[in-house]
Amino acid sequence: MSDLFKNYIDGKWVAAKSGNTFENRSPANRNDLIGLFPVSGSGDVDAAVTAAKTAFAKWRLVPAPKRGELLYRVGDLLRSRKEEIARIMTREMGKVLKETRGDVQEGIDTAFYVAGEGRRLFGATTPSELPDKFAMSVRAPVGVCALITPWNFPMAIPTWKMFPALVCGNTVVLKPAEDTPHTAVKLFEILEQAGVPPGVVNLVQGRGEEVGAALVRHQDVQLVSFTGSAAVGREVAAVGGQQLKRVSLELGGKNAQIVMEDADLGLAVEGALWGAFGTTGQRCTATSRLILHRDIKKEFIERLVARAEKIKIGDGLDESVEMGPLINQSAREKVQRYMDIGGQEGARLLIGGSVYDMGPCANGYFFQPTIFDRVSPAMRVAREEIFGPVLSVLEVQSFAEAITVLNGTPYGLSSSIYTADVGRAFRAMRDIEAGIIYVNGPTIGAEVHLPFGGVKDTGNGHREAGTTVYDIFSEWKSIYVDYSGKLQKAQIDNA
Ligand code: NAD
Repeated sequence: MSDLFKNYIDGKWVAAKSGNTFENRSPANRNDLIGLFPVSGSGDVDAAVTAAKTAFAKWRLVPAPKRGELLYRVGDLLRSRKEEIARIMTREMGKVLKETRGDVQEGIDTAFYVAGEGRRLFGATTPSELPDKFAMSVRAPVGVCALITPWNFPMAIPTWKMFPALVCGNTVVLKPAEDTPHTAVKLFEILEQAGVPPGVVNLVQGRGEEVGAALVRHQDVQLVSFTGSAAVGREVAAVGGQQLKRVSLELGGKNAQIVMEDADLGLAVEGALWGAFGTTGQRCTATSRLILHRDIKKEFIERLVARAEKIKIGDGLDESVEMGPLINQSAREKVQRYMDIGGQEGARLLIGGSVYDMGPCANGYFFQPTIFDRVSPAMRVAREEIFGPVLSVLEVQSFAEAITVLNGTPYGLSSSIYTADVGRAFRAMRDIEAGIIYVNGPTIGAEVHLPFGGVKDTGNGHREAGTTVYDIFSEWKSIYVDYSGKLQKAQIDNA
């Protein structure tokens, strides 16, 4: 008998109205069945949104410091179950334990960071232009928030949306990715145990085209916070636009690392390896382009290839493994397709390029670390998000060319430059078109108290995390209190 999991609606664990379930299997071993999860539909979405709407009436009146205190409890519980959840996450989505521990840690960090915000949520007071009149602006909650999340950070992304939403006084419905329903269940067990009131948080599992789409178009959902592909993000934005609801989008990336001729090459090689092959290249901030100055290219590639060839591939639950599988069959097929595309465009394969099915890996979705050389900026392998362990190398002859090449994609999420020249570093910070820039560090490694997000097709201008996330999850109210006892007219009486 497989374990049977449920939705969490209005404080109760409930099956989908359809009674149907879907299987969740490990990407490292398709024979490993993790459990059965509800195939929900619009009826389940409606029940969850109704519960969230009802709960909102009370939750918005709970003082923000009290809402924050609840998040301290959630953070403590997450910390006490960090190892258990990391193992569950590795089993269900494949990245190595060291990384899933980091993913849970991001949830813990967010809980504590946001809990403190309960005692801030600062507004502003400012003098009125009229006598005996008081002026201030305060934050107010938005209402019911739909949170739609991908599978590559199954704890970090739901929590970095949910915790700020809750501290601002909103209620939420989470629709996690189909590939990571189990981690979401663990998060909701903790929310329940911490004492989050019924209806304040709701979990509806199922397919994006059904549950996700139903949530986005539900009239009682005031805000959609979506992280995922640009293709789906556009659909979500279109519906949100029609209904004039707030939509915050965190989408794809085609991130690059520049290595100049004056860089510390050992450091830059380690950065490229971690950036390109960490999480099997399945991070929105993964390094998928390497922009190398001509003078160091040959040596850099030799050192990089020598290291990449030694990466140990396998089940992430084995502590010695460095790179796990891709998430599923269609992800591996997509990566495979880009091997043909790169070859046809004239890129030269330096290593990898094939599925990896040695020994126990035969039952999983493994793929070799892959490096394409002789890539030019116009090639699809230099422009499109592949979302796998595939690195495209582009050669440049100057700093200015490096920046132009880096900026030459539709995306603008993360970026990195390795250089010893402080002037170049500052010019890069100024001229790179990206939401996140690292100097002498890889393209991955964001911290929860800095704004996270990107420009161009990476999103629609919002920033999660940092102090900016509260602007997504709250409305500004400007308030004027006139205690003069007479009608005063702004811009007229005192002109
Ligand atoms: P995806 O767009 O396929 O799915 C994301 C979520 O949307 C899932 O929960 C899915 O079920 C749901 N969904 C699918 N179709 C939907 C629809 N029509 N309406 C509403 N919801 C729908 O993305 P994915 O494959 O899960 O994740 C990978 C993508 O996410 C990559 O492009 C990656 O760059 C991006 N990503 C971005 C960030 C960021 O912060 N910028 C972080 C992580 C991942």
